[in-house]
Amino acid sequence: MRDAVDLDAAVAALAAARSVTIVCHVQPDADTIGSGLALALVLHRRGVPVWVSFAEPAELPVSMRSLPGVHHLVPPAQVPATVDLLVAVDCGGVNRLGALADRLPGAATTLVLDHHRSNTRFGTVNVIDPDAESTTSLLARVLDAWGEPIDVEVAHCLYAGLVTDTGSFRWVRPGTHRLAERLLATGIDGGEIARTLLDTHPFDWLPMLSRVLGSARLAPTAHGGLVYAFVRRDDVDGVGPEEVESVIDIVRTTAEAGIAAVFKESRTVPGRWTVSLRSRDTGPGTQDGVDVAEVATALGGGGHRFAAGYTAFGEPDDLVAALLAALG
Ligand code: MN
Repeated sequence: MRDAVDLDAAVAALAAARSVTIVCHVQPDADTIGSGLALALVLHRRGVPVWVSFAEPAELPVSMRSLPGVHHLVPPAQVPATVDLLVAVDCGGVNRLGALADRLPGAATTLVLDHHRSNTRFGTVNVIDPDAESTTSLLARVLDAWGEPIDVEVAHCLYAGLVTDTGSFRWVRPGTHRLAERLLATGIDGGEIARTLLDTHPFDWLPMLSRVLGSARLAPTAHGGLVYAFVRRDDVDGVGPEEVESVIDIVRTTAEAGIAAVFKESRTVPGRWTVSLRSRDTGPGTQDGVDVAEVATALGGGGHRFAAGYTAFGEPDDLVAALLAALG
């Protein structure tokens, strides 16, 4: 059973707002940006002043630059200090806002729209559905409840989050394809959106994969194998964050791995690593799937049951030891 989600609370906050800031999460993906831009398009259509931003990195990943509504994105410095309503999209906790968390106190109302199981409910209004495939699919339900039509540009943004967060419709639930069909019926080109977001990489992606995958290791844990790999600063010349994010989707397909991890070194802060975790729900050596959201939360991060992440500092060997200890 799906828990009741109070869509009306989101609608009330959005309908009453006279100015809106939308904050997407740091290291943005197509779900947070797609949600932010779709909502910005709707608010702009209603004549409401709207700003969309994310704290870091400084540039939007190349793959997302052709999304409709991208002109509503502003650098963090241009986000007003005070606003009627601040909406955080696809952010499981305040830390996901990065430096833009300092805009929370200046907002009369804060609305958290999210689908992360680990969400800390940091808004004054929290509309969270851990069963939603993507934040864009939750937003589609909010727009329906609000009576705001999903036009072709809004549909493009919503589909961007849906196709990426479902892993190209691998991780789906009843209703996922119904929403996809409805968005496609507006006239968007689903194939082109998926190709742009998921299947377009610079040539340097190939030598990067060669280096990174060549260093992958398999370690036993109580929950089956842990396969892990490191993406070091020296490995990422000529590639963007989308290419770095693609590594986990290869590593996690290893049959021996109940759990997959990719340690990604910061390009700007030496010794800081962001760690992607994935769990299999079934397969050899697994015990009905490890809840990696729990593991990530224990290590200071968060996420979903089968996909989560955290930030860590230190030497590679110590990071692996800490993860193995947390896995038990
Ligand atoms: Mn998401």
